[in-house]
Amino acid sequence: MEIAFSKIKHTPTDLNFVEDGVSIIGTLTKQSRDLVRLESDFKADVDVICSRCGKEYRKSVAYPLGLILSDGRYNDNDEIDVIEFFNNLIDITYISESEIASIQEDYNFCPECQETDEVLEVEL
Ligand SMILES: [Zn+2]
Repeated sequence: MEIAFSKIKHTPTDLNFVEDGVSIIGTLTKQSRDLVRLESDFKADVDVICSRCGKEYRKSVAYPLGLILSDGRYNDNDEIDVIEFFNNLIDITYISESEIASIQEDYNFCPECQETDEVLEVEL
């Protein structure tokens, strides 16, 4: 799903992205000439690998997702969560995929391993 930067104005535009078990529901608002602010609720069912036993399991996540989207290269360093796009289009599918990837790269413990408090104490 792609949205042209030029379509986003200072009045918030609703964003309704639901695809492949991922939903990003919120708004896009123009913040400055080249920047758009995304404020949303991110929900997904993600296949992850347990960091302890190596088993694949499905994890449900839901959290607020706020990002700054830059139309072209972003040079300031004061914003932390900035995603740059280089074809004047905001690619929501890309945002979704990179969010999923960061969840998969994180430490994940399957329900069985989460219950093993003893083991977790040693691990942490
Ligand atoms: Zn496990």
